[in-house]
Amino acid sequence: MGSYDAIIIGAGHNGLVCATTLAKKGKKVLVLDAAEAPGGMAQERTFHDGFMSPISHGAAAFSKTVSDKLSLNKAGLSFSAPRSTTALDADGSHVSIIGETVLGVNADDTASYKTYRQKLLRYAKILDLIWHNTMPRIGGGLMDALIYARGGLKVRMLGKEDMGEFVRVITLPMRDLIDEVFTDPKLQGLLSWDGVMGSKLAPRSPNNAVMPLLLRMNGESGGDYQVPNGGTKALIQALVAAAKSAGASIQTGKPIKRIIVEGDENGQRATGVELETGEVISAPIVVSSADPKNTFFKLLGAQHLGIEFTNRVNRLRTNGYVAKFHIALSGAPKIEGVQDLGGRFVIAPTFDAIEFAYDEAKYGGASTNPVMEFTIPSVNDSSLAPANQHVLSANVMYAPYDEKTGWSDASRKTFTDNILSTLQRYIPNLKDIALAHELLTPLDLERDYHVTGGHWHHAEMAVEQMLMMRPTYQAAQYETPVPGLYLCGAGSHPGGGLLGIPGWNAARQILK
Ligand SMILES: Cc1cc2nc3c(=O)[nH]c(=O)nc-3n(C[C@H](O)[C@H](O)[C@H](O)COP(=O)(O)OP(=O)(O)OC[C@H]3O[C@@H](n4cnc5c(N)ncnc54)[C@H](O)[C@@H]3O)c2cc1C
Repeated sequence: MGSYDAIIIGAGHNGLVCATTLAKKGKKVLVLDAAEAPGGMAQERTFHDGFMSPISHGAAAFSKTVSDKLSLNKAGLSFSAPRSTTALDADGSHVSIIGETVLGVNADDTASYKTYRQKLLRYAKILDLIWHNTMPRIGGGLMDALIYARGGLKVRMLGKEDMGEFVRVITLPMRDLIDEVFTDPKLQGLLSWDGVMGSKLAPRSPNNAVMPLLLRMNGESGGDYQVPNGGTKALIQALVAAAKSAGASIQTGKPIKRIIVEGDENGQRATGVELETGEVISAPIVVSSADPKNTFFKLLGAQHLGIEFTNRVNRLRTNGYVAKFHIALSGAPKIEGVQDLGGRFVIAPTFDAIEFAYDEAKYGGASTNPVMEFTIPSVNDSSLAPANQHVLSANVMYAPYDEKTGWSDASRKTFTDNILSTLQRYIPNLKDIALAHELLTPLDLERDYHVTGGHWHHAEMAVEQMLMMRPTYQAAQYETPVPGLYLCGAGSHPGGGLLGIPGWNAARQILK
């Protein structure tokens, strides 16, 4: 296979961003993925004959900085205009948001929404420096202190009053953040969903939801739903094109068995990878976009790590709580009062609807009344379904990875029935047009996408697993305790979602 300066494990979007950034600086890069196609959880899967959908149906949080630095527009990436997000009401009294506009609520909530969004966008911008940089080490040297100082300076620029408000807001549970401003239950449910989505959190959960929300709002759309023209796959196609034109090689269908470590009593170093086929490929730098537990335990082996570090990685919270649900539709879904099916729809009618759905999951039960967001991705990408037919793609909460029956056939059926009957309330013609469906629990996502716990973010975006603690200290600057081995996936700073930032930060750290 030749010799390489760097091998990247995983051709998910972060692996591709990292590869392109390194290759643009003259590194000879090889990207290897076990899957048959690049894209990780953003690649499309066929779930019924002629019907496809990606796991990630939204890509609006992708970093504009990364996109610009990699010239992804030249590689064919462009985005649709922002589309609305609608909190559905079974009787058709929906609440919709787009930009600073909210429709379907009273005048007070309408006015408050503008102020709320402006405030959060201001805070999201303040954090830009934090997201797009390697986090300083805890107890690090002068350079690390300087990064803290720069970050602190940005926050200080908010002014005394706003600074206090910023610190207060980022630590609030979603319910408190929303409850103090809005009165409309559907708007409250919708805005809470945007904070807790993807995580093991509900509106009352303390401390962990606002930072991930601000991270998602840091994307070009400011948190509005927006899709790449051509669908999520257009993002992956652009990343593949950019990586190849920078000179990186991408090989799929290449599962990696282990990371090779060589050394003696004076020290060890990652020197390459061994494929499942037994083939060995060497490089002085190995970068893993696989999740931290997969990287450190399956691919590296705990024998190369200190006991304390091993224990911390072992204790990382990586159990997913989001299921993916796909439906093949023979025609367009009809939703009372909705003409444009190209937006995002949320079924989370109140704070408590989310909270009660979560309560069951805490004790290992899949929610009886699930909450969810769904899109009809075939509206924006007609190649996903046969002509005039459609795909419904839903992210459903809560579906605990460690469901108490181990996701028996019976519990899968019950959960599926509950999802379908929930959707049926809002899409009356669903039963007439549904041709087939697919449920992917976190257990299925783990199996199909090689992500421990099937977790949206590879590791929970919790306060003890974020910033200079992501995934854990001694690996939070993309370097790991084994020289030559780096992390670049969603499990590293700043976290999960289709952002591209971990891959970009990791590459810049490697190039230092
Ligand atoms: C149900 C669900 C819905 C989601 N919806 C959205 C959404 O709408 N919007 C959004 O922004 N985000 C969404 N996400 C999150 C998003 O998909 C992930 O955070 C993102 O894909 C992580 O990207 P990554 O490149 O870091 O890792 P991944 O996409 O997980 O890619 C890692 C790659 O490493 C490969 N790999 C692992 N082990 C090996 C090995 N041993 N050998 C070779 N290759 C290996 C895998 O095959 C994979 O391709 C969703 C996630 C889930 C679970």
